[in-house]
Amino acid sequence: MLDDLQQLALAAAPQEICGILFGENGRISARRAAKNVAADPIRHFEIDPRTLIAAEREQRNGGERILGYYHSHPDGVVEPSMTDAASAAPDERLWLIVNGQKAAAWQAIEDGDIYGRFSAIPLDCFGAKGQTAGEPES
Ligand SMILES: [Zn+2]
Repeated sequence: MLDDLQQLALAAAPQEICGILFGENGRISARRAAKNVAADPIRHFEIDPRTLIAAEREQRNGGERILGYYHSHPDGVVEPSMTDAASAAPDERLWLIVNGQKAAAWQAIEDGDIYGRFSAIPLDCFGAKGQTAGEPES
């Protein structure tokens, strides 16, 4: 999934791509691309509210749980920008940032280390690691 995302990020550069991540317990199980409706999609991203509202509605109706969001920084670092911090609610959702090569995951929280809003979290949320619920005990 991460490889696909990096390819999409590269293909869309210099525009930022964005979308929604689904999953539970910090593990990403799926993603859904959203249109970047920011006024300046080369410098910012804004997930199409229609995509977000649809995902929230599906979740309420028993669909996949929204784990967080992803977006790209085509020009470099995979750390959240000050603008990201300003637009993030401290809802503990995961923010995945890719740049075509690297990726990093952040959690939006109150009093985070980064711009008061984000804390780094390990990017081991793509596999079975950390996912023990429902698995047989060994
Ligand atoms: Zn950003």
